[in-house]
Amino acid sequence: ATPTALLVGTGRGARLGILIKGPEILEATRRVDVAVLDKTGTITAGRMAVTEVVASGVERADVLALAGALEAPSEHPIARAVVAAARADAPGTPLPEVEDFAAAAGFGVTATLADGARAAVGRPAWIAEQARVPDEVTRAVARLEATGATTVVLALGSDGDAALTAVGVIALADELKPTSRDAVAQLVALGITPVLLTGDAEAAARTVAAQVGIESVVAGVLPEGKVREVERLQREGHVVAMVGDGVNDAAALAQADLGLAMGTGTDVAIEASDLTLVRGDLRSAPTAIALSRRTLRVIR
Ligand code: ADP
Ligand code: MG
Repeated sequence: ATPTALLVGTGRGARLGILIKGPEILEATRRVDVAVLDKTGTITAGRMAVTEVVASGVERADVLALAGALEAPSEHPIARAVVAAARADAPGTPLPEVEDFAAAAGFGVTATLADGARAAVGRPAWIAEQARVPDEVTRAVARLEATGATTVVLALGSDGDAALTAVGVIALADELKPTSRDAVAQLVALGITPVLLTGDAEAAARTVAAQVGIESVVAGVLPEGKVREVERLQREGHVVAMVGDGVNDAAALAQADLGLAMGTGTDVAIEASDLTLVRGDLRSAPTAIALSRRTLRVIR
């Protein structure tokens, strides 16, 4: 392959909204046979909206206000939706102050409230590891997840007491990006097997997969689990492309034979990737693969 011909390919990529880190990347792109796709922010728009709030032993308004306060410093699509819902629920009322905010990528967030109590909001299984979860909350999570919603649980401690108690469930829905279904069909037409890989619950993942035409779903994974899934596919002999946008996708993007970051995603994801899909349009993934195949055919 002559460098000049490869650069012609990369120049065309730039005009199509695909930024390529180096011309050598086209070679890996050409051989891809499995495309692992993150859900939130990659297949879906990542513009989540709160659809239901269930309170257990506290007021519904407190669930939203406290969850909103905890999520205020986070950039996760779930956090932005919870903060928006909290502000809309109590217009003009500032969210409570929190201290010691910490984000656990792929799990949720924790902070300390003004009265010194610890609080956490995040993935139901992660909350269950650190909090007492009343049956009422467990049932609400199951009911909401069965509808395909994403759920997060709020847990509160009391001052001086290390143990937390789950006090509420927030259900969220996301919309598909309008081009995702088309993008999946284009990948399949190129002979590439799409796999949906997400930290979200199985039912929410299956709902989205069915809407875009993906059969293979790996759900409920932790950020390290995303890397392990890419490695597992590579050990099976696949050349793996990974498309993602989040902090939790960065390690898997770096591990993949070809990492593609949504240009609308986080800087960490973009830095870990070989290609950036500037428009955040999943169709740029099959476009990039088709382009590299054509470019290398011209060279041979
Ligand atoms: P995805 O793989 O779909 O991009 P993530 O790995 O970012 O999803 O998140 C997986 C799960 O972790 C979410 O469905 C949610 O339950 C929980 N989670 C992650 N970040 C947050 C947050 N800021 N607030 C609440 N829950 C969160
Ligand atoms: Mg994501």
